[in-house]
Amino acid sequence: MTARIPATLIAGDGIGPEIMNATLTVLEALQAPFDWDAQVAGLGGVTVAGDPLPQSTLDSIRKTRLALKGPLETPSGGGYRSSNVRLREAFKLYANMRPGKTMIPGGRFDNIDLMVFRENVEGLYMGYEHYIPIDDDPHAVAIATGVNTRQGSRHILDYAFQTAISMGRKKVTVVHKANIMKALTGIFLETAYQLHKEKYAGQIALDDVIVDACCMKLVINPWQFDTLVTTNLFGDILSDLVAGLVGGLGMAPGANIGQDAAIFEAVHGSAPDIAGKGIANPIALMLAAGLMLDHVRLHDKAQRLRQAIADTLNVDGVRTGDLGGKANTKAFTDAVVARVRHS
Ligand code: NAD
Repeated sequence: MTARIPATLIAGDGIGPEIMNATLTVLEALQAPFDWDAQVAGLGGVTVAGDPLPQSTLDSIRKTRLALKGPLETPSGGGYRSSNVRLREAFKLYANMRPGKTMIPGGRFDNIDLMVFRENVEGLYMGYEHYIPIDDDPHAVAIATGVNTRQGSRHILDYAFQTAISMGRKKVTVVHKANIMKALTGIFLETAYQLHKEKYAGQIALDDVIVDACCMKLVINPWQFDTLVTTNLFGDILSDLVAGLVGGLGMAPGANIGQDAAIFEAVHGSAPDIAGKGIANPIALMLAAGLMLDHVRLHDKAQRLRQAIADTLNVDGVRTGDLGGKANTKAFTDAVVARVRHS
């Protein structure tokens, strides 16, 4: 019998509960051995516990060191600081891995198989921001300070090189803007070449590209890339771009890996425009659950899950609206469950 695995569950905001229900249904059909501890964060945290990141949620993840998380709403401009960013900081989740792999053949971009590694706790996400008031304008000047450290860069780069090599990948490309932000992103670029020379030369190739050119190249010829590794903000933007190459945000999972925990989530947000309608595409969160199964070394179940999703999309032709289909979340989930049961 497979040992039970305690894990924290955060359904999240907006479409979160809808896609989380769908994902849990499929995990149950797979007999995934997770013992869930349900907690809240984001807007749900504010509503239920008066706190976007309640202590009980932090305590739960500290204990389980493993979580599946739906999207969390973060107000733009003012309001509370992102619970996602705080979770990454609290558990030192320095590596964000976002695979972009074609699941539906024949699209605008076929046979995409890209891996994006994003530094997850430093850079311009540290929240070192303030306004300077002038005369009667309290927001006359806005200032942000980015921080990248040699050690932080080494952590994510080490993780990216090691993981890319273990996956049999051939080339890592560092994405930067060291021509303009010579110190802030130059340190990342410099550390990449140092580390490669020290530990990884001969095992995997390394090159680099400036972020603006990278965006253009990804749209013109994405197949020239294999594995991208970059700083926090560029990684956020590039991984959405890569999601667009494989069918949109509904297809893109993410893993936040660190010293003290691992948190798996969809790349997309809470999609308030479609929340409550029962039409969200649950694939991204299901694929995130697949990465979580891989993380706990249940590779067979992870593979069955990915195959069931692919067969539902391509053999049964069942797809949600964002993929041009007619199925709602429940119909799509039922079809994946049927595939899982026969796998
Ligand atoms: P979003 O990703 O929520 O939505 C962008 C667009 O993609 C919307 O049109 C939405 O309907 C569509 N979309 C996203 N996921 C989908 C799915 N599974 N199925 C079908 N369509 C889908 O981005 P946004 O609107 O910019 O952000 C909304 C909120 O989510 C914000 O508060 C933001 O801070 C938060 N957010 C959270 C996370 C996270 O928790 N990791 C990530 C990104 C954004």
